[in-house]
Amino acid sequence: MSPYPFPSYRERYLPAMTPRQIAALPDKDRAPVIVATGAIEQHGRHLPVAVDSLMAQVWLARALPLLPAGVPAYVAPPIVVGKSNEHTGFPGTLTISKETLRALLLTIARQVHAWGFKRIAILNTHGGNTAVVTYTLREITATLGLRCGWLRPKVELGLPARENLFGYHANTAETAWLLAVAPDKVDMTEAVSEYCGDVTTAGDLRPEMARSTLAWVTADLS
Ligand SMILES: [Zn+2]
Repeated sequence: MSPYPFPSYRERYLPAMTPRQIAALPDKDRAPVIVATGAIEQHGRHLPVAVDSLMAQVWLARALPLLPAGVPAYVAPPIVVGKSNEHTGFPGTLTISKETLRALLLTIARQVHAWGFKRIAILNTHGGNTAVVTYTLREITATLGLRCGWLRPKVELGLPARENLFGYHANTAETAWLLAVAPDKVDMTEAVSEYCGDVTTAGDLRPEMARSTLAWVTADLS
């Protein structure tokens, strides 16, 4: 474990640099500044509330060392509390509004732009942030001229059809993922399966990834 209070990728982590070091970075015109947008929200009875925010940090810690040294990419401090109003009513859920998330992203973009950066890459690990991030990135491009994009892990999970259709939160993938990186933070004796439907009767109306969706909140489903 790193003896420093910074992530393992601190040579790419902007908060670990001095102002002079940031000013002297030679590749700011082409290096994306990665902003992780996560969440602190209930993830069932068996997982800690930080799952989504932890996920981005572990991905960055594992992926960035694989980049060749000459490939430019820097990391901004993460936005760890996300727009999680769909998960209110459960102890441990913290949420900011869509306006606050938009304002945070705009503020970070405006300032890294002022330092000389031209690109923002979002690593979003929380579905509740997706819509807000999408329209805010467009606003950042239109008003600041920054190039904006998303980083998405391409993983074939090989999950059963029912899990693919209905297991979209605190699910098999998130549980397996946390078991892999922090098994002492998972209480499998508390894990429950609460599918809200069946593959054979799913129809077009489902909470997520469907032709017809509804504005669900967790309290409806769990
Ligand atoms: Zn999650």
